[in-house]
Amino acid sequence: MPVINSESNHDPNKILPIDYDWARDYYQRGVANNWTPEEISMQDDISQWKSDELSEAERQLVEWNLGFFSTAESLTANNIVLAIYDYVTAPECRQYLLRQAYEEAVHTDTFIYCCDSLGFDPEYMYGMYDRIPSIREKDEFVVDLTQAIDDPDFTMETEEDMRDFVRDLIGFYVIMEGIFFYAGFAMMLGLKRQGKMSGIGQQFEYILRDESLHVGFGVDLINQMRAESDFWTEEFEEEIVNLMKEAVELEKIYAEEACPEEVLGMGPDQFKEYVEYIADRRFEQLNLERQYVTENPFPWMTEQIDLNKEKNFFETNVTEYQEGGQLDWD
Ligand code: FE
Ligand code: MN
Repeated sequence: MPVINSESNHDPNKILPIDYDWARDYYQRGVANNWTPEEISMQDDISQWKSDELSEAERQLVEWNLGFFSTAESLTANNIVLAIYDYVTAPECRQYLLRQAYEEAVHTDTFIYCCDSLGFDPEYMYGMYDRIPSIREKDEFVVDLTQAIDDPDFTMETEEDMRDFVRDLIGFYVIMEGIFFYAGFAMMLGLKRQGKMSGIGQQFEYILRDESLHVGFGVDLINQMRAESDFWTEEFEEEIVNLMKEAVELEKIYAEEACPEEVLGMGPDQFKEYVEYIADRRFEQLNLERQYVTENPFPWMTEQIDLNKEKNFFETNVTEYQEGGQLDWD
């Protein structure tokens, strides 16, 4: 049983006619956002990093976010290829998954570039996953959610199987890319707003733009599955809401540890509010009730993300396209 039923249930090697225009739309928007990290100069970042312009707290914040993202991007890429791709047979969805996998390779490349430019010891940067519990706990939390479909004997036959599959989608698209990335985005973009580590900041802006499409695709895939079958029970909904709330608590711990004192006029309390605000946005995208109703402490992040573009498929189609590799909020 395919994850979603293409109306004609046609050959996965024949993409036309398109059954799911929304998936095709994500592909085109992804392509319009092409960028590579090497386009962004690291010269200023390198001299700032070597000077004493940054406080200890700011340095830690940069290191933690590089440490978290460097491994998280690979985990996400592996999940697409090794867990999700097999079961999503609609060819236009697979076309987007391939595009997304490429973007994750670009993101992985970004952290190689940052690591090389700043002269980090790779052991040090990639080892944060093992050394820092709040980073490891976030990664393990999403990996745990994919266990059922990682089993080589897993097949997609029953509604229970669909729930196992959607648990993976929630883990990676909604929790990893949609919640766990966002305190880090706010930190790195906040730093850039102060003229600090602007090269890395710009790379995070490009990643953020890609990630908002990834989250959108994942949510639309889940919503399409819900529209086509009956696996989404009340009990399952409660489980999902609780998982997302647990993830919010893990992200708050991460934010507090990565930024224990006020840096850049942003403190741990504001990061926690921001995580709640972002999680509410994810609940809304899944057509679930908001759990926190917290105000956005960083209105400038909204301009950055332009949440209006994160439409879900029950709303209208997004028609604004990027012209090329340029960030349109600059
Ligand atoms: Fe990514
Ligand atoms: Mn992603």
